[in-house]
Amino acid sequence: MQELIDKVAELSGQNLYGCYQCGKCSGGCPSVWQMDILPNEVIRLVQTKRVDDALNSKTIWICASCFTCTVRCPRGIDLAKIMEALRQIHLRRNVDHIDIKKVAQGEINELPPIALVGNFRKQTA
Ligand code: SF4
Ligand code: SF4
Repeated sequence: MQELIDKVAELSGQNLYGCYQCGKCSGGCPSVWQMDILPNEVIRLVQTKRVDDALNSKTIWICASCFTCTVRCPRGIDLAKIMEALRQIHLRRNVDHIDIKKVAQGEINELPPIALVGNFRKQTA
C-alpha cells in the first residue's frame, strides 16, 4: 500500500501529509454535489492507506480540474493534481469506464465532439 501512496505523491508532486482536513477545498468545489465523497475525504483516504477506496470513488472522475480547491487550500496543496494522479493510476490498471459501443448513436450525433473526446481520454485505458 505504501507503494501506491508513494505513486500518488510522485505523480502529483504534492505533500499528501500537509493536509489538515480544514475542508476549504470541498467548501468551494463547484462539482461537489455530484460526488460520492468530498474532495478533502479523497486526500484523507490516501493519507490513511485507503487508496483503493479513493480509486473506486466517483469523485475522482467527477472532478472537473477547475483548480478552485488548489487556490483555496491554506496549505498550498494542489488537490486537482492529486485527483489527476489517482485517475492516472486507475487508467494504468486498464479499466474502461465508458464503452463507445454502448453510447447511443443519437447521443454521438448530438454531443459536442470535444465532450466526447475529453470523456474518452479521461475514462478509457
Ligand atoms: S483545503 Fe487543503 S488543507 Fe484543507 S482539507 Fe483541502 S487539501 Fe486539506
Ligand atoms: S479541481 Fe476538482 S476537486 Fe478541486 S474544486 Fe475543481 S472540481 Fe472540485
